Formats: sequence, C-alpha cells, structure tokens
Amino acid sequence: MERMRIADVQDMIDHELVSKAQIAAKIEEAAEQASKDYAGKAPLLVAVLKGAVNTLAAFSQAMSIPVEMDFMSLSSYGSGTESSGTITIRQDLSTDVRGRHVLIVEDIIDSGRTLAWLAEELKRRGAASVEIFALLEKPSRHEVDVDVKYHGYVIPDEFVVGFGLDYDERFRNLDSIAVLKPSVYQGGQA
Ligand code: 5GP
Ligand code: MG
Ligand code: MG
Repeated sequence: MERMRIADVQDMIDHELVSKAQIAAKIEEAAEQASKDYAGKAPLLVAVLKGAVNTLAAFSQAMSIPVEMDFMSLSSYGSGTESSGTITIRQDLSTDVRGRHVLIVEDIIDSGRTLAWLAEELKRRGAASVEIFALLEKPSRHEVDVDVKYHGYVIPDEFVVGFGLDYDERFRNLDSIAVLKPSVYQGGQA
C-alpha cells in the first residue's frame, strides 16, 4: 500500500510549508547536537501525545547515543483550538523522572502554555535537567516564555497539519507539513 501523500489530499491542501527533506534535515541537525550534549547521560526523551509521536520517532532514530522514551497525554481546556494553560494529565509517564535528564521532543509551540507547564511539572518531579526540542515554532503567538534549546523551523501563524499534526484527527500521516485550505475549516473549528 502506498503512503498518503499531499497529492492524495490536494483539494484540501493550500500549500506545503515544510518538505519531508527539510523535516529530516532539521531533525538530524538537532539530534546530532543533542547526541553530543547528552553523551553518557542516557537522556529520557518525552513526547506529548499524539502530535509529537512522528517527531519523536524521527528524532530518536537520528540520535547516535542510547536513549529512553516515554509519552504523556495532556488536555488543555480553552476555547476552540487555543490552549488555556489549565492542563490536565490524561495519561502520565511510566518513568520516574527523578534525577533523569529529560529532553521534551515537541511538534509545535503555539502559545507555549502546554510546554511551559510540562517543563515546570517535570522539574517539580525532580528531573536533573529539562530541555526542549521543538520542530516548529510560531513565535508571533508566544504568550508564555519557553526556553527552547534545540530549534526547528519558525513558521507563520497558520494552522498546519502533517508529520503528526492533525485537523480533527486527520492528516497526521502526511510525510510533510502543510497549510490547509480555509474551506476545510468552514463549519469546523480552526
Ligand atoms: P500551545 O500550548 O503551545 O498553545 O499548544 C501547542 C499544541 O497545540 C500543539 O502541541 C498542538 O497540539 C496544537 N497546535 C498548535 N498549533 C497548531 C497547528 O498549527 N496545527 C495543529 N495541527 N496543531 C497545533
Ligand atoms: Mg504537541
Ligand atoms: Mg490536535
């Protein structure tokens, strides 16, 4: 069976923003740096479900040192697709982070609220260090200061899908990152 490609959903895609090759290049660059920084530290890579799963898979495979991985599911209540800062844990890590060097691998930072909360929470639990890799950042919308150590791409304030990111649970398996046509949002929340 063939992979889903942008051509297959072309009527819904406005344009491709970050290509498959660009995603891979940026992840490899960051993972190479992180492999040096975390040498001998057995870092714990943490991803927030579900959006960051693709990024974590690619990032971990691009690292040249042994790592552990764990996942967390969070919900943030707010209006529409804006996160509110009131975060609830739906599914917690199975790892005790006390004394661990944690690297949060994130798909996208929008307001920064989810990530700011998570970084604080992991520090509260006694992590030896907490750093962040973010594949995408929308800096024009940052409301909370988040200290990102490994940067990916800065993108405009547009709603994007693909490489783990969804609209209404769809488009996660696109292998690149794209902007949807506004017509897709008509009648839905965007
Ligand atoms: P924040 O707390 O930074 O506002 O929320 C970040 C989360 O909102 C991301 O992890 C992602 O789930 C969602 N999000 C923010 N911007 C986008 C976007 O452009 N597309 C998609 N699909 N999700 C987004
Ligand atoms: Mg995310
Ligand atoms: Mg989503």
